[in-house]
Amino acid sequence: MVASSVLGFPRIGANREVKKAVEAYWAGKISADQLTQAAADVRKASWQSVKSKGVDYVPSGEFSLYDHVLDHATAFNVVPKRYVGHGLSPLDVYFAMGRGRQADGVDVPASEMKKWFDSNYHYVVPEFAEDTDFQLKFNKAVEEYNDAKALGIETRPVVLGPITFLWLGKPSKEARPGFQPISLLQKLLPVYKKLLSDLKAAGAEWVQIDEPVLVLDQAAHFEKEFTTAYAELAPVAPKIMLTTYFNRLDSNLKFVAKLPVAGLHIDLDRAPEQLDATLEAVKATDLVLSLGVVSGRNIWKTDFEAAIKLGQKAVDVLGQDRVIIATSSSLLHTPVTLESEKKLTEEQKDWFSFALEKTAEVSTIAKVLSGSQDAAVAQALEANKTSIAKRREFERNSDDAVRKRVAAITPDQLERRSPFAVRQEVQKKKLDLPKFPTTTIGSFPQTKEIRQARAKLGKNEITEEAYEDFLKKEIDSVVRFQEKAGLDLLVHGEPERNDMVQYFGELLNGFVFTQNGWVQSYGSRYVRPPIIVSDVSRPGPMTVKWSSYAQSITQKPMKGMLTGPVTILNWSFPRADISRELQSKQLALALRDEVIDLEKAGIQAIQVDEPAIREGLPLRRVDWDHYLQWAVDSFKLATAGVTDALQTHSHFCYSDFDDIFPSIQRLDADVISIEASKSDMKLLKTFKQYGYSNQIGPGVYDIHSPRVPGEQEIKDRVSAMLEILPDSLLFVNPDCGLKTRGWKETEASLNNLVAAARWARGTYA
Ligand SMILES: [Zn+2]
Repeated sequence: MVASSVLGFPRIGANREVKKAVEAYWAGKISADQLTQAAADVRKASWQSVKSKGVDYVPSGEFSLYDHVLDHATAFNVVPKRYVGHGLSPLDVYFAMGRGRQADGVDVPASEMKKWFDSNYHYVVPEFAEDTDFQLKFNKAVEEYNDAKALGIETRPVVLGPITFLWLGKPSKEARPGFQPISLLQKLLPVYKKLLSDLKAAGAEWVQIDEPVLVLDQAAHFEKEFTTAYAELAPVAPKIMLTTYFNRLDSNLKFVAKLPVAGLHIDLDRAPEQLDATLEAVKATDLVLSLGVVSGRNIWKTDFEAAIKLGQKAVDVLGQDRVIIATSSSLLHTPVTLESEKKLTEEQKDWFSFALEKTAEVSTIAKVLSGSQDAAVAQALEANKTSIAKRREFERNSDDAVRKRVAAITPDQLERRSPFAVRQEVQKKKLDLPKFPTTTIGSFPQTKEIRQARAKLGKNEITEEAYEDFLKKEIDSVVRFQEKAGLDLLVHGEPERNDMVQYFGELLNGFVFTQNGWVQSYGSRYVRPPIIVSDVSRPGPMTVKWSSYAQSITQKPMKGMLTGPVTILNWSFPRADISRELQSKQLALALRDEVIDLEKAGIQAIQVDEPAIREGLPLRRVDWDHYLQWAVDSFKLATAGVTDALQTHSHFCYSDFDDIFPSIQRLDADVISIEASKSDMKLLKTFKQYGYSNQIGPGVYDIHSPRVPGEQEIKDRVSAMLEILPDSLLFVNPDCGLKTRGWKETEASLNNLVAAARWARGTYA
């Protein structure tokens, strides 16, 4: 019989119960016991849901109050010294590591967060040093396995694998220079042995060990580590299902197929092409092969026919008992259930599968492959065929005009009319900006009043007119504020935007939105990504009204603000029937029209933000060039349709450019603003070394903290920058948007920023 499995279920609760409970605990409104109970209720509901859909391998142990990597680190006693000795409970130490703590005389910042592979989920980075003292503080896997068992549900516990755990971490401040976390493997293994043998003693037949690092190029260097680790773990552990996801194993398959594990999971959603090689490699072994044919990363209904074809191929080679049909990865990246969507049309609902629906899918596909004669299975198969056919029909009829327009893109549409040096002269006259121009990244504080007004409009408690009047007043005050502060290139402050992607999605054709499609981004922060369902086009101007209103009330130049095509794409659920490249180009054309309209409306500078260009990089280096080619082309397509006099800006929320520098240069934005790393100027040296020629605004202070930078501190930073950059190229700005800041610190910080720029004009005349 072909079995079915789910690698992990969303842990936020169907109605965001976990967020509500965690935030109530932080606010002191509920006790630790009440929080624990709320978490137990969500886990129970998830196990029962997955079980009720007929899944054979139900996951346990992958639940988290904040982040599963943080859970794993604290269970293994990997707690940086700065969080120890404050008299906090283990639960409060855990949250302090996740989000920092500033209360009752304890003042510790949060640990670093990083993107979980190429997803929009963030994990808390573990910190290791030579003296890291691994201990099994608690056995979460055993506890949750037992909890499920007490409910009558046999589960397959999920454990983060040792190599991936070490690989995700970084050396702590106390570590010696050159220390590499992977060197701790021998010290770590005894704790894993303890965890796994306890699990076996508790009665678990299988354990799922996640080693997603195996889909990266770097894993090729860890063959020895994998071989040693699994040779030690396998004898004491339940049967090990080694899971890999988000990409293909490629050459790592050679050693992975020889590991002493009982099963291997591969991602056939992202990399269906790896099936043949994997079958070949495991054919002669006893390995059970788990096929990730139901996407853990998108929200589309699975095409059963295609999935069954892949499954059948495996069954033909391995036999039914050695094949498992599974989700490609944990379903953590998908919303919980379609059942809570009341506003999607029946037609739209028929396109999608969220976590609960995907759970039913793995079960049905496995039953079909097992030769089930069940009428319900036959019915589900037939219904899927109809749904997929309807969806394909919809896709085909989507928007021919948009497709024709993308097909007709010519290389000259990607280039500005003149080179930067020529444009700079024209813009100097037109914008009349002083030396070291000051500006901000776009957003100003999103106050409670702004959020309330938006909520009232949503509930029809105020009219559209009243809301627009409110927004105009907000823009008035932001503009007056900037004039008073003495900033040179103004922004309107973006009070009308709920979110930098959703705002545009709602104004473009081709998107749909869910009511309850929440996905965890980090900790208690959940996002509701828009879904791209068809060809994207712009029915009309999106931002022109607000930007031109803002320009009309000031003599200073106003910067128009847009989100770039790659970022809109990366922060949405994309279509699966056409390439991301094509979707990005469609978005770029829509934005190109907006940029041209903004210029026609008298806007002289436009910022198109692409914070997601870097995070969209494919996991394997060999795939980078192709991605960067279309990603940069998309930005250029969006921004190059204007005259030389229009100053284009772009902003990047990071400072790690070393490996993608030529692509940043190829964007050919007139001005880029970047997040300059705290104190060192290494980043700017990179720019100098590569010979960056356009204008640049490295952030002169960090907006991610309420701290107000002193005037002298900003002067020092500007001086340091000018030792590396020519003075004709430097802009002076904060390092990111001010949306999350309060007005008080914003005012004080920007006053100091303007004072420092004025000082620089006098000093570097
Ligand atoms: Zn930023």
